[in-house]
Amino acid sequence: MSNRVTSVPAAGASSTPPATSRRAFGRGLGLSAAGLALAGCSAPEPPADPAPADAAADQELVPAQDAASQAAVTPDAALALLTDGNARFVAATPARRDYGGQIRATAAAQYPFAVVLGCIDSRVPIETVFDQGIGDIFAARIAGNIVNTEILGSMEFACRLAGSKLVVVLGHTSCGAVKGAISSARLGNLTQLVQKIEPAVEAI
Ligand SMILES: [Zn+2]
Repeated sequence: MSNRVTSVPAAGASSTPPATSRRAFGRGLGLSAAGLALAGCSAPEPPADPAPADAAADQELVPAQDAASQAAVTPDAALALLTDGNARFVAATPARRDYGGQIRATAAAQYPFAVVLGCIDSRVPIETVFDQGIGDIFAARIAGNIVNTEILGSMEFACRLAGSKLVVVLGHTSCGAVKGAISSARLGNLTQLVQKIEPAVEAI
């Protein structure tokens, strides 16, 4: 089970835009500028195919978690919510959310269904790769997704006081902290962090 989740961000983190995308964007920008110049002289043409935008607008808004929805989530269901969200992220089909509405809905209380411990790596933003909204999950981030007393206390708050049903420790490929542990890196306070990972490196 943990392997399934741990493998999840690799797909998202490793997906990079095509090398030609910037050049293609540049060409598109040039065409748009020409189109704008013409628009000042004649009536704008209607959109050729408005169907995709309409389809997105018709998509049902996902509400924020509340007490009832959190109570109904089992640990297995919580894992399914995350894996389904990652599938949407990989497919570039995120759920439709009204962040303003979610902020208002969670202003007085929060009911996240899971707590995720992940690395600070900028390529693996937790809520993004799991396609979760405001109030859905607790996210703790530290280089190498290690645990310490403060992180464990945060998880205890999430599960024992705030009702979360699942704890996920989320690793990822090409982790700088793990590479540091492999090479026995030493640098200021980073040394202590890397040394927490080194026993795992030695074990394999
Ligand atoms: Zn990392």
